[in-house]
Amino acid sequence: MIAVLAMVAVLTSGAPRTITVSTPQGEQRIPVRADRGGVPLISAPLLVSALGGTVTVGETWVEVTLAQQAFRFLLGSPVYLFNNQVQALAAPVLLIRDTVYVPFQFIAEALPTFLAERYRYDRRGARLVEERGRLLAARPAVGRLANGLRRGHLVTVDAGHGGVDPGNPGMFFPRGLREKDVTLAVSMLLRDELRRRGVTVRMTRTTDTLIALGERGAYCTEKCDLFLSLHVNSLPRRRGFSDIRGFETYFLAEARTEDAARVARMENEAVRFENIGDEATPLGAIDFIVKDLQLNEHLRESARLAELVQGDMGQIHTGPDLGVKQAGFMVLTTARRPAILVEMGYSTNRDDSKFLTSTPGQRSMASAIADAVVEYLLEYERKTDAAADSGTAR
Ligand SMILES: [Zn+2]
Repeated sequence: MIAVLAMVAVLTSGAPRTITVSTPQGEQRIPVRADRGGVPLISAPLLVSALGGTVTVGETWVEVTLAQQAFRFLLGSPVYLFNNQVQALAAPVLLIRDTVYVPFQFIAEALPTFLAERYRYDRRGARLVEERGRLLAARPAVGRLANGLRRGHLVTVDAGHGGVDPGNPGMFFPRGLREKDVTLAVSMLLRDELRRRGVTVRMTRTTDTLIALGERGAYCTEKCDLFLSLHVNSLPRRRGFSDIRGFETYFLAEARTEDAARVARMENEAVRFENIGDEATPLGAIDFIVKDLQLNEHLRESARLAELVQGDMGQIHTGPDLGVKQAGFMVLTTARRPAILVEMGYSTNRDDSKFLTSTPGQRSMASAIADAVVEYLLEYERKTDAAADSGTAR
């Protein structure tokens, strides 16, 4: 059934001539057209290309899927099915020269009503806005936490150094604090923040003890979603060294820059505190493991998590965002899950040191990292859900 209608230029309903579709990926303008009766219409293919979705045209039905939710329109009729319930439209969905058009009302009213967690329509600005961070909330909340996460996520938090390995000496830290003290303090706060968000946490250490680098990753096995290692950066004395400050997040891969290699060497130094007792140099194994991991999707996942951590840390940290970096960190090689290492700031800078050792600073970092973890897990769930959905015949 194909309805062919002449388009008229004048919109009689006061609808805008174009709308802007705004998503975390960018903005797209979509023209609003009118049917013969002046009812404003939107091209469904343009809409789904802007929002990410699909349009499937059947003989009598058109199915528009957005946010993994299917709207089934009866062609030429002012009705559609959503969640097995029939809904009314002001005008029929039309097929005009092979393009499906849905009434403008679908954008302005139906989407913001039925997928309110995800879309809102701003009439004054003629903007359909997809909200970031609300991605999963659009799904039915059955069996999910208030933040949209599934239950049962497990994250390993690794407080860098400990015991006889103090980490860096914390040049500008007060009260004789050293790196191992700050990493432990923030890790404990991060544990609390993650628990508050419904995520189960396993700690590599909760006291001032040394855990071998090669064993830390073993705390994150198949059931574990992520491995997070927290550290504090420092620089050797040289001209201007104490001016350098900021936070950066690493994922395991071959070092791209000399500075990244330096940070990895420094953090890998901790092996010298371990009684390995033989000539096996675990550091030599890193090249091999890195190559192995490069074939691994965990690399991409780790990079994404690192990006989210940097983004959220950027909103609270007093120092500059030094970006996502990659290097061969031994502590990350043994985790067979996405793994990142956060250098939360420089103990060789006064301002960073103040932030790193203050209670508000530590709390805000823990909260920012926890937020990033939840965002990451939501994205990950959405991807795996989409993969599961596409494997199911409709
Ligand atoms: Zn460290």
